[in-house]
Amino acid sequence: MIAPDIKREFINIVGEENFEDSEVGRLVYSYDATPNFQSIPDAVVSPRNTEEVSKILQLCNENKIPIVPRGSGTNLCAGTCPVEGGIVLLFKHMNKILEIDEENLTVTCQPGVITLDLIHAVEQKGLFYPPDPSSMKISTIGGNINENSGGLRGLKYGVTRDYVLGLEAVLPNGEIVRTGGKLAKDVAGYDLTRLFIGSEGTLGVITEATLKLIPLPESKKTMLALFQDLEAAARSVSKIIANKVIPATLEFLDQPTLKVVEDYSQIGLPTDVQAVLLIEQDGTPENVSKDMKVMEEICRSENAVSVQIAQSEEEAEALRTARRTALSALARLAPTTILEDATVPRSEIAKMVKAINEIAAKHNVKICTFGHAGDGNLHPTCTTDIRKKDEMERVEKAFAEIFAKAIELGGTITGEHGVGAMKAPYLEWKLGKSGIDVMKSIKAALDPNNIMNPRKLFAKDTRKRVVISK
Ligand SMILES: Cc1cc2nc3c(=O)[nH]c(=O)nc-3n(C[C@H](O)[C@H](O)[C@H](O)COP(=O)(O)OP(=O)(O)OC[C@H]3O[C@@H](n4cnc5c(N)ncnc54)[C@H](O)[C@@H]3O)c2cc1C
Repeated sequence: MIAPDIKREFINIVGEENFEDSEVGRLVYSYDATPNFQSIPDAVVSPRNTEEVSKILQLCNENKIPIVPRGSGTNLCAGTCPVEGGIVLLFKHMNKILEIDEENLTVTCQPGVITLDLIHAVEQKGLFYPPDPSSMKISTIGGNINENSGGLRGLKYGVTRDYVLGLEAVLPNGEIVRTGGKLAKDVAGYDLTRLFIGSEGTLGVITEATLKLIPLPESKKTMLALFQDLEAAARSVSKIIANKVIPATLEFLDQPTLKVVEDYSQIGLPTDVQAVLLIEQDGTPENVSKDMKVMEEICRSENAVSVQIAQSEEEAEALRTARRTALSALARLAPTTILEDATVPRSEIAKMVKAINEIAAKHNVKICTFGHAGDGNLHPTCTTDIRKKDEMERVEKAFAEIFAKAIELGGTITGEHGVGAMKAPYLEWKLGKSGIDVMKSIKAALDPNNIMNPRKLFAKDTRKRVVISK
């Protein structure tokens, strides 16, 4: 619990109405979108500006109180689960778009802005902010930056990292730093902007971000290719890229996912095929038509049973939305849904999907797979029940083997969801001991008292996965 004198200091900084320590108020922030992780914070604090964030961090640093910055809590790696108690920091007041600069093609905003609100705001000016995590209706820019989130448009346009030009961050000792700016070029010193991107709230608090915008593409087309052979779908992905066509979207759904997505969205998706590719291209109408034709021919050469181009924007949007609801649709199947994001070089997708299916069969667990095929970022998703201890042990083993396989194929344990507390035990598999040591040195230099989101990224026990509940 927070001592009464420190509670008073918090209230002096943010006001009574922005300090919450009732049991119910704390319970709401004891978990995030990650199943099986829950831990109650001591208080929930909602600063109104950077100065207040700075004072809060100083106070916490002096008193060694853990801080968990939290956007919308949609992360899937237990990144906002307060595993060591302390305070949860909310950005509900720091949620403004500060400026859209049409000359420099930038948008500057506070961390609590909802991703889709920002996308819509810049689109009204004919501009484009491409990072589009499927959670964008609710996720925040602060969360996106700290997880370095990607989305359906990642293949062609990159991920959040590729659009962050500058940041304002508050360090654990309360100092405020500014990195980068409205600059296309800046090589002055270490790239501190990138250091904060994907740092999962472990190095400081982002209080402002300047993001790059690009012109909104003139036109867009959407296509659905259906396959009876999963490997043929994967080969089509490799062939499309090898033919030097980079589609805006190249998504993959296996049959079990397809069935639940159709059941959920009811838009008439075929459910009798083994795999589906959702393909989009944007750009000038001429280039879009040319690329769509090449991609259609490639899919047909791989014996796609059907290739259909959406006839209207409504139809295209329905297909995109259906794909984005894959996780919610799968979540209806069982009490617990564990979605992972093992990622491999795209040339290895077929091998990885096959391995996932074999591993699931070996451990007798139900795993469906969908994901961003174009960038090798797969989402093997297990529908299970945390109350069944024996089944959960098999699920853990299956995912450990999936991560090991991804690394063996030249991939990684996470392509976009981050490490958090959930995948911390596996990070050393990817980085090796020396990689972890470098990260620990950076962490110790910036946050010697380890107050920023403790036990995220760095596992206490690197041999086995931890399941924490309090
Ligand atoms: C249905 C669903 C679909 C999803 N689809 C995708 C997808 O397509 N692509 C993808 O990449 N992810 C996806 N995710 C995961 C998640 O939505 C993203 O990681 C997202 O960026 C998290 O945003 P958030 O605002 O919810 O952040 P939170 O979950 O609240 O926080 C994420 C991390 O950022 C830190 N943080 C938040 N704000 C700040 C700040 N101001 N300063 C410092 N640290 C901060 C937190 O401490 C935490 O470590 C999905 C999740 C769900 C539930």
